[in-house]
Amino acid sequence: LNPTNHNYSPEEIDVEKKLRPLSFDDFAGQDQVLENLKIFVKAANLRGEALDHTLFHGPPGLGKTTLANILANELEVGIKITSGPVLDKPGDLAGLLTNLEERDVLFIDEIHRLSPIVEEYLYSAMEDFKIDIMLESGPNARSVQIHLNPFTLVGATTRSGLLTAPMRARFGIQSRLQYYNKELLATIIERSAAILGVPIDLEAAIEVAGRSRGTPRIANALLRRVRDFAQIKGNGSIDVEISRYALNALNVDSFGLDEMDNKILFTIIDKFKGGPVGLSTLATAVSENAETIEEVYEPYLIQEGFIMRTPRGREVTDKAYHHLGRSRQSKQSG
Ligand code: ADP
Repeated sequence: LNPTNHNYSPEEIDVEKKLRPLSFDDFAGQDQVLENLKIFVKAANLRGEALDHTLFHGPPGLGKTTLANILANELEVGIKITSGPVLDKPGDLAGLLTNLEERDVLFIDEIHRLSPIVEEYLYSAMEDFKIDIMLESGPNARSVQIHLNPFTLVGATTRSGLLTAPMRARFGIQSRLQYYNKELLATIIERSAAILGVPIDLEAAIEVAGRSRGTPRIANALLRRVRDFAQIKGNGSIDVEISRYALNALNVDSFGLDEMDNKILFTIIDKFKGGPVGLSTLATAVSENAETIEEVYEPYLIQEGFIMRTPRGREVTDKAYHHLGRSRQSKQSG
């Protein structure tokens, strides 16, 4: 259930695909982002042009890949999907680019992890729809320029801070995705339950939603586990009792905080007396990369009021002490 963990089994990935919204109308929330995208897509369709290159950033599981697929559907074009770490040679990228049809979408997940050579190679493709290809090697080596069909690059990143400035500048459309509130997550859970064919009542959907860390991917994963409990321990339909029973059995935190969230809070409390502590010191203490803390974990902890950012560093709040069952020690005494 770790939102940063992409190692799902093939079966889980199949279910996830089934639950993925396919059109703007199916997609819940992110109203501002969606409103703009609808206009840009409509305009591109009207002119028969490729949509401008589009960048989605935000924490994992909020719908970046889903939106890339929706864009292709709404543009009525094909989509090719790859990711930064997979594209390690310009040749791999050239193969993908030359196979794109007019107005197609090329989706690159984790675009901040492209190698510098591949990234540079992408620049002229994005800007002029041209690439240089090396033919032969050794003394006969020569490069030829190839024209590409106009296409839309859709990039997704959890770590916008790691994207280079020239890369970022090449995206005409940039959207940041936000965490979802409980009501929206409950709507998403009800929709997913309908697709999975399992009855769920509203109170139960809200219970699961509240423990989903503001993240649709986690909401769907919890729903599937709760469904298992409902089928084995209950009568097959999901009510609030079976949801609570299942979520407790699964050790899901009442705020949906994951292991790293709790580790960050415990570390600030136990090692730094509640803070303030600087980001890099904190990162070392929890053995996680500073940017990941800043862009993946911290936004949710701040939004939910567990952590505050102060000029002197990160501090935990009373809510965090309360949540972890700790009492605040006086600062002078230690
Ligand atoms: P990301 O690419 O940001 O990590 P995904 O697009 O893979 O996230 O979304 C994870 C899952 O969450 C998807 O399979 C989809 O079913 C669900 N999901 C994400 N956003 C929404 C949404 N707005 N409405 C309904 N389901 C969503």
